[in-house]
Amino acid sequence: MAKIIPRPQLSLLEQLYFVEVFKGMALTIKHAVRSLAKPETIPVLNYPEVQPELPAEHRSEHRLMKRADGTSRCVACYMCQTACPARCITIVAEESPDGDIEKRPATFDIDWLLCVFCGLCVEACPCDAIRMDTGKAILVEDSRDAFIANKDRLMDWSPADYPAEDIISQEAPGGLLNEQALAAMQGGMFSAGDVADVADKETC
Ligand code: SF4
Ligand code: SF4
Repeated sequence: MAKIIPRPQLSLLEQLYFVEVFKGMALTIKHAVRSLAKPETIPVLNYPEVQPELPAEHRSEHRLMKRADGTSRCVACYMCQTACPARCITIVAEESPDGDIEKRPATFDIDWLLCVFCGLCVEACPCDAIRMDTGKAILVEDSRDAFIANKDRLMDWSPADYPAEDIISQEAPGGLLNEQALAAMQGGMFSAGDVADVADKETC
């Protein structure tokens, strides 16, 4: 049923408009003077130079997770591409040189102009190979082509940008676990084969 909203009754002064116009101008001038006198109080960000602080759960730019040897954890199963409602993921698979893994992505592209940031690709992945936890919320580029993220760009992240308790991130090259594994190996505690075996058991 339609809801009827009564029209506000205007007083004689309001019907003249001039008083209301001057009140509006006074408010505008007040904000302009305050912004000039105290710029730190302006409730805006110098975006994109200053990125907004977002909660950890925010679905932001994607990244492809890495194994301890730096290769992608993705096994090119196409689950994310199939689940994607925007059809913005394009994967081309190739045979993996690793005998225990059938396939790997030769190319992995996401068109962020089509993406609706629903997170279904992350949910669908059986290998925790794709995440949307980079904290880069709003994309700024100067050409349409730059919005298509390829595999190199999706894998261009550092373990140092993620918490120490994020084990899978820390397993990647440069991460704490990777450094510990390398130090242990160099100290003669493990062989390269042992480290590779551990990495294999922990990955998809
Ligand atoms: S977030 Fe949603 S729309 Fe974007 S790539 Fe993933 S599944 Fe597709
Ligand atoms: S669902 Fe995961 S493992 Fe499968 S293709 Fe997508 S990112 Fe790769």
